[in-house]
Amino acid sequence: MQLPSIYVDTKKIQKNAELVVNICKKSGIEVMGITKGICAFIPAVKAMLDGGVPKLGDSRMINIISMRDAGIDVPIYLIRIPMMAEIENVIKFTYGSLNSELTVIKALSEKAVILNKVHKVILMVDVGDLREGVLPENVLDIVEKILELPNIELEGLGANVGCYGGVLPSYENTKTLVDLAIKIESKYKIQLKTLSGGSTVNLDLLDNGEMALGINQLRIGEAILLGTDIKTLKSIPGAEVNTIVLKTQVIELKVKPSRPIGEIGRDAFGKIVDFQDRGNRKRAIVALGKQDCGLDGISPMDSSIKILGASSDHMILDVTDCELEIQVGSIIEFNMDYGGMLDLTTSKYVEKN
Ligand SMILES: *Cc1c(COP(=O)(O)O)cnc(C)c1O
Repeated sequence: MQLPSIYVDTKKIQKNAELVVNICKKSGIEVMGITKGICAFIPAVKAMLDGGVPKLGDSRMINIISMRDAGIDVPIYLIRIPMMAEIENVIKFTYGSLNSELTVIKALSEKAVILNKVHKVILMVDVGDLREGVLPENVLDIVEKILELPNIELEGLGANVGCYGGVLPSYENTKTLVDLAIKIESKYKIQLKTLSGGSTVNLDLLDNGEMALGINQLRIGEAILLGTDIKTLKSIPGAEVNTIVLKTQVIELKVKPSRPIGEIGRDAFGKIVDFQDRGNRKRAIVALGKQDCGLDGISPMDSSIKILGASSDHMILDVTDCELEIQVGSIIEFNMDYGGMLDLTTSKYVEKN
């Protein structure tokens, strides 16, 4: 057994995919399953597809190519604006991409002509979160130029909130997309197939009946992979949680004082840490560190175990209040949030099962 290791419960992921697909279907919304959070770990991707997700999206070409290599042949979209350096791969391996730069879309068009393919573009509109996207007032102009490009199909518009600016999804920001689509359709006499309204944070909006009518796609990662919603900090009603469990082993177990002994300077990461004196505590060191994941991203499944801190390779736990019989060699289990999942699935030190 190699440790640290994550255990992905693909049955739970499949159930979550079914749940999300069914919730969205009731409102005429299609789900693009987002695989970046789990580094496109193939068993998890297959579970998403088994749960009824019809198409996939990922932010990294490496992940997309690994899915193609594994024989996954559903439409896959690149959901980060393509780099000029990856245009050829985008045309070869994806069905479409999210875009906001005419220069990039022109390059996609040129390569698509050469490779005799048609590439679908979802034009991202910045509805206020100030990450990617064309500002609403500039959308009509850029659309006119996109429509002139050969081998590019303007599939629709997309928006993203709750990422950089933490802007909450709302009726207003989803309505912005719908209104723009209506203007484009009447001005250019075309039909936009897809209005991609957002991510997991939009599910709550849908549930409250506050999503603008006309949105017909959501791009969902977290709700399927973890069963949670970072916006409400809760699990999605009816979803399975603890879909992924991290396990590692205790390598030292000793009773030690809670304040370091000697003059205090900077720690291994240049920080000065203030330690509270809580007397002698039973401390377990587990084989896991900041090189594997950030401390904020994981928490012990047993809530009586507290994380005291970590350096690159060692995590120190206070197990004084833990009722389990912990010894050197014991396995400690953790669950994780989206950030923890990202860290752990990209670490080459963490085995995936
Ligand atoms: C990551 C991402 C998503 C999915 O977000 P979740 O919170 O995992 O549902 C959707 N769209 C874009 C552009 C993303 O980068």
